[in-house]
Amino acid sequence: SKTLRLILGDQLNINHSWFNKTDSTVIYCMMEMRQETDYTTHHIQKVIGFFSSMREFASQLKDGGHEIIYLKLDDHNNKQTLRENLKSIIESEQVDLFEYQLPDEYRLDEQLNEICNFLEVETRSYDSEHFYTSRKELSNHFEGKKQWVMESFYRMMRENHNVLMQGSKPIGGKWNYDASNRKRLPQKHKPTLPLVFNHDVSDLLNIINKAGVKTIGYIDSKHFVWPINRRESLDLLDYFLENCLPLFGDFQDAMAVNEWSVYHSRISFSLNCKLISPKEVVDAAIDYYQKNKDKVDISQIEGFVRQVIGWREYMRGMYWAKMPEYGKINELNNKHKLPKFYWTGNTKMNCLKTAINQSLAYAYAHHIQRLMITGNFALLASVDPDEVESWYLGIYIDAIEWVEMPNTRGMSQYADGGLIATKPYISSANYIDKMSNYCGSCYYDKKQKTGNKSCPFNSLYWNFISRHEEYLSSNPRMGMMLNLWRKMDGEQQSNILEQAEFYLNHINDL
Ligand code: FAD
Ligand code: SF4
Repeated sequence: SKTLRLILGDQLNINHSWFNKTDSTVIYCMMEMRQETDYTTHHIQKVIGFFSSMREFASQLKDGGHEIIYLKLDDHNNKQTLRENLKSIIESEQVDLFEYQLPDEYRLDEQLNEICNFLEVETRSYDSEHFYTSRKELSNHFEGKKQWVMESFYRMMRENHNVLMQGSKPIGGKWNYDASNRKRLPQKHKPTLPLVFNHDVSDLLNIINKAGVKTIGYIDSKHFVWPINRRESLDLLDYFLENCLPLFGDFQDAMAVNEWSVYHSRISFSLNCKLISPKEVVDAAIDYYQKNKDKVDISQIEGFVRQVIGWREYMRGMYWAKMPEYGKINELNNKHKLPKFYWTGNTKMNCLKTAINQSLAYAYAHHIQRLMITGNFALLASVDPDEVESWYLGIYIDAIEWVEMPNTRGMSQYADGGLIATKPYISSANYIDKMSNYCGSCYYDKKQKTGNKSCPFNSLYWNFISRHEEYLSSNPRMGMMLNLWRKMDGEQQSNILEQAEFYLNHINDL
């Protein structure tokens, strides 16, 4: 009897129990397919990152003595869809049992269910053995509760997995040091340069171009910077611990011109395709902290751990609890198109120009750039969450729907009405100027609310407050801003709204 085991592009986990031993009755299969390159318009570095890592993984399996069928994008027998490729391999190899690891995307889950119904062989699914939690753990944790606040899930995770705990108390006495994670980079402070790799991916790029795959963004095909295997992913993690963790928490929200990752780890791609696991990342970081308490204090390590066992697992739980409805919600009824400059970086707004150009150049922006620059602006401009989402799903190397969607629709666009974010993440120029050096060299004036050089974030911010005044009035966290708006004199209010309308009508020219 013969077993066929599917490995999806984001299931590159060599420590999965599947690979503990070799078995001559088991064939593995991996496929580069048009159904994956075309479900949204991806950044070219994302396509290259996935296919390169898959190729490396396949050769690692082969070297380990496993049998593997690998379909390259341009192989003549590649039928370009999961269903047709599986059908064909199962027939030609005379397979009697088909096995797969549970996918993380709803789209692929549906496809695999459908395929299993249709196949005439026996089928079996396995856990991916990657996450701390199961798909349903979050909904179980919050069952019967109205608010699904991350902090309560995070504390449960710390306790259940005994992470940064001293008995039943959090190490350091506090659960969360978020308040001390909000420093601006001092002038002349130069963050450590990010560790980059230097892969020549020209051959693969040729294949992708020849196939006519539509992509966005740029690539230097002689110097591809992202890790493509486990060794490099671990090197990136080590580099982060040594060089960035000591200041990670402090500058987690800081942004600066010419600094594309500040002290962030850039390990999201390696994590999301499962080259490394969240547990080994958290364990390594805590181990480093314990051995280097002179360099790393509790607020840095807690800030980092919270992202991985808190936010990441929470977002996944939210996705599985709320799909498929989550993909359609639009609480604020936003309908505008995404401004054209999101695809080109061609805008006079320095913050957006920097964040977008950097995303096109590296397929990466760090969290605050995503949330408080590109996300903030899209929300203030009432852009349809579908439009916003297809941008985020394509442009970032780490973008896989299970983590992209709750971050975009929920956290950033408030399209779920506050399930994830306790208030809309919006700001005027004031916050952006506090956390970055973008405003200093901007065409627009961060201080002005009206006039042809006034910063668009300012009038659009008050326009948002005014437009949603009634809706927001039930949110205590918005009370202060609503009061400020209500206290402004009528003439000033109408000047600001007029300015906002002008900007909204000329959004592509900003
Ligand atoms: P670091 O800042 O070094 O953090 C370490 C790790 O923590 C990350 O690698 C990531 O795995 C995890 N993490 C941190 N914040 C989050 C978060 N909010 N949700 C889930 N995990 C988190 N992350 C993705 O992995 N894929 C996406 O498609 C994605 N889309 C996003 C869209 C928007 C609008 C926003 C606001 C955030 C999005 N994020 C996404 C979350 C976060 O911005 C990225 O995980 C992070 O920027 C990756 O860079 P890093 O590895 O340097 O992270
Ligand atoms: Fe962005 Fe406004 Fe600052 Fe310019 S002035 S960088 S548009 S926030």
